Amino acid sequence: MAMIIDGKALAKSIREDITKEIGTLNYQPTLAVVLVGTDPASATYVSMKEKACLEVGIASQAHRLAADVSQRELMMLITRLNADPAVNGILVQIPLPRQLDQTAIFGAIRRDKDVDGFHPMNVGLLNLGLSGALLPCTPAGVMEMLQSINYRLKGKHVVVVGRSNVVGKPMSTLFLLADATVTICHRYTENLGLYTRQADVLVVAVGKTNLITGDMVKPGAVVIDVGTNRVGSKLVGDVVYEDVKEVAAYITPVPGGVGPMTIAMLLKNTLLAAKMQHA
Ligand code: NAP
Repeated sequence: MAMIIDGKALAKSIREDITKEIGTLNYQPTLAVVLVGTDPASATYVSMKEKACLEVGIASQAHRLAADVSQRELMMLITRLNADPAVNGILVQIPLPRQLDQTAIFGAIRRDKDVDGFHPMNVGLLNLGLSGALLPCTPAGVMEMLQSINYRLKGKHVVVVGRSNVVGKPMSTLFLLADATVTICHRYTENLGLYTRQADVLVVAVGKTNLITGDMVKPGAVVIDVGTNRVGSKLVGDVVYEDVKEVAAYITPVPGGVGPMTIAMLLKNTLLAAKMQHA
């Protein structure tokens, strides 16, 4: 029976440390959150992030734009936020409506205000293994979860299912930097179970319920379920939790696993960005 890696509790202790550190500063870090359109899931994420900011003493500014906002208007807002010394972090909630060029928008955010870690410079620093990058929040949160159980990644086989720029790819890079052997699986991977069964650490970031069943997991593995799927009023992951918890040594629940850690890492990045700008 697997031990649960309690993301909610770990995130709470990280938020407490952030609150303490902010208490020692002679300025208040500020996060600007840009929400385009009225997608209910995005609106919920934005209000959760705003609430989390306030709890730790980060000021949050919400910029809500109409779904049909032009690229030029959004770029003008980013330029203004980039230049505003009172704004330390800028987050543009994704997904964005189709008329907007997401890559250009992420590239326009000042790299030291890029608290999501999506700017090409931050991505490049991470891939080169250089210091000074703001790391993408979800992969950084997963690394903290593994640290919390004192997991030594060196030489271990990690399998990451999903290769998005937001989760799968940066996650795999962090594992490589930690000297793990990394296998990345995606939509076209044939016989997924062949790979997942070899994983000492299995990270699943796809967005498909019931993708990983108990027979796809090596006994004693650490299973990190990043997926979030709405089934009726319930939030579930990509892993069949009840089955997999019988096989794995550690497992993360959904909800209460990676989700709260992602928000905690956003707060950590905002504090880090503020400190870099005041240094
Ligand atoms: P995404 O951009 O849609 O990427 C999904 C990835 O899964 C793609 O690389 C895709 O492969 C791969 N995939 C699709 N079907 C597959 C299959 N049958 N077998 C293996 N791989 C398959 O999604 P994302 O942004 O990375 O997010 C992934 C999941 O994590 C979603 O449920 C999302 O809601 C959740 N999420 C949670 C948090 C959190 O804080 N808890 C944060 C971010 C994301 P291709 O590249 O070949 O298309």
